Amino acid sequence: MAKINMPPAVGAQGKNTTGHHYTTATGFSEVRLLAIGQWGRIHSGLGLSLKMTRKHGPCPGCGGNDRFRLAHDYPEHGRWLCGGGGDLQVGDGFALLGHVFGWSAAEQLAAVKRVLGIDTGLTATGRQVLRYKAEAYRRDMAAKAKAKDEAIQRDSDLLGATMDLDDAIRHRQYLSRQNNETLPPYGAELQAAQHLNSLLLEAYGGLM
Ligand SMILES: [Zn+2]
Repeated sequence: MAKINMPPAVGAQGKNTTGHHYTTATGFSEVRLLAIGQWGRIHSGLGLSLKMTRKHGPCPGCGGNDRFRLAHDYPEHGRWLCGGGGDLQVGDGFALLGHVFGWSAAEQLAAVKRVLGIDTGLTATGRQVLRYKAEAYRRDMAAKAKAKDEAIQRDSDLLGATMDLDDAIRHRQYLSRQNNETLPPYGAELQAAQHLNSLLLEAYGGLM
């Protein structure tokens, strides 16, 4: 199971057109080479502890139970797979920082350089920008996951209540046939109908 801690502050000097603080003194191609075989250390250095197992588990970025796994070349290239949201996503060690912390490519690069001890010309402001961004992104992802869980629970409750009512109606129809007369709705059926009604109002009442 993936374990998340808040990433330590990272960042760099200078500003690009999108307003992110970073430096491009050492680019992706060089850093990608320097990072080969270092991804376990890099990710744990950024607060992301991943067990090297081929089994599927929860995604450190988008949650779930069994949508995420590390690829066989994770130690070398940091590669991973996530089936979150139905679309399979694959990426390298840099991309995982985007998936989990919401960092841009430039921010991913700055973070990896910092862990590898490559000079990024860090400023306190740049470090804060990245830290705040990661924290906000994680809160957002957690809120989305919670809303999804609640929606799944609500649908499951509604389905259950609908089936209860259906059972009660069928039971009365069965008794009616046995007795050769049309029996009126009885206690359990009315209770099931009321329960379904209250769940429907709870789920959709606010939309009317
Ligand atoms: Zn994911």
